[in-house]
Amino acid sequence: MSTRAGIVITGTEVLTGRVSDRNGPWLAERLRELGVDLAYTAIVGDRQEDMEAALRFMSEQHMDVILTSGGLGPTADDMTAAVVGRFLGREMVLDPALKERIAEIVAPLAKRWPNVDLDAIRIANEKQATIPAGATVLEPVGTAPGLVVPPGEPSGGPTVVVLPGPPRELQPMWSQAMSTDALRAALRNATSYSQQTLRLFGIPESEIAETLRVAVSEGVELDRLEVTTCLKRGEVEVVTRFEPDAADTYRSFVDVVRRRHPEALFSDDGSTVDQQVAGQLRGASHTIATAESCTGGLLAARLTDLAGASHYMKGAIVAYSDEVKVAQAGVAPELIADHGAVSQEVADALAAGARERLAATVGVGVTGVAGPGGGSEEKPVGLVWLSVDAGEGHRLTRSVNLPGARVDVRERATTVAMHLIRRVLSDL
Ligand code: ATP
Ligand code: MG
Repeated sequence: MSTRAGIVITGTEVLTGRVSDRNGPWLAERLRELGVDLAYTAIVGDRQEDMEAALRFMSEQHMDVILTSGGLGPTADDMTAAVVGRFLGREMVLDPALKERIAEIVAPLAKRWPNVDLDAIRIANEKQATIPAGATVLEPVGTAPGLVVPPGEPSGGPTVVVLPGPPRELQPMWSQAMSTDALRAALRNATSYSQQTLRLFGIPESEIAETLRVAVSEGVELDRLEVTTCLKRGEVEVVTRFEPDAADTYRSFVDVVRRRHPEALFSDDGSTVDQQVAGQLRGASHTIATAESCTGGLLAARLTDLAGASHYMKGAIVAYSDEVKVAQAGVAPELIADHGAVSQEVADALAAGARERLAATVGVGVTGVAGPGGGSEEKPVGLVWLSVDAGEGHRLTRSVNLPGARVDVRERATTVAMHLIRRVLSDL
């Protein structure tokens, strides 16, 4: 049987959305790497009864391990350790050595406040050093210790790993937890799975659904693969998880995808288009520059996202107004007058202008109607012209009609641009 885990994220700030949860997804990924089946993530506010109910639900679903995040601080709303102790039927005991260590960590912090109440600090330290009997202490990364608490009864039940809320504290503490005997014992039966990612561009998700049906009809044993598809930034991501002995089945599945979508499949090793473009630019010692209207520099931001961008990124002209298109990007005013700012001619002129004015080997121009206003019958909201110019006649110009609101049109336009850049560079 597989090893099952649940995650309980605590914090009213996370429940209400004031802070978005970064710990659940991060822990989910760690569990996946270990071959542990994550069955549920629950988010609860800082209320004892809700936290207890979440723990009860998880253990009724036969979890081997429950991970909690948050609520380890010194204040009254931080009560995860006590709730977990009670839930597992373990008495809360003061660990004097731990109290000493917390006092040592807190002392220099307390010195920053001249009128600090030392009694209050002592009480806070004692609270944080009071832990369920039999728990393994994880050294504080901030001031709060984490815990690995074994099941209450020898007959079974979950092992609970109690981790702090701040992600920069939770992450190093997770590696500590992994080195404890208590957690290793709980995870000893985890199966090791492989996970592979395919990425496709330029096809709807429904096409992949059809491809899955074709694969089945051709005898690929898809029930040995756990395939999930999702639409992300205008690309289709196909993530497949399988046990090691299903590797051949996965290869046959990929063969079917490749045969049916030779153009659309751009990544079979999980690499992103951004990584691929970065590799192409660096590999051929190219440099790149953009002149952007409707994306207002978003493409430039994306091209500088990865470390090492200074090797290929020259710069960008945010040519939002017609005057800037003319004065900075060198677009001939007649082109704008004759064809309009959103046109093939202006996209090409922006690409050429970026290339020449910023002395890059590749120039990219983007101009479109991001909306919500400004659309016409001829040029509706979502129409974007893109041009990638690598000089000597190596140029690709495309128009797309992108769906969605302003934010979607602008974001999608950068994805389309990345794919055009990729195609131009691979044809050079
Ligand atoms: P502390 O000792 O800092 O009080 P704690 O374990 O009690 O640690 P919380 O009080 O629950 O942690 O959270 C502290 C802060 O950490 C939150 O205000 C929030 O900014 C951040 N944080 C907590 N949980 C999460 C989460 N799931 N995702 C992202 N950030 C979080
Ligand atoms: Mg809190």
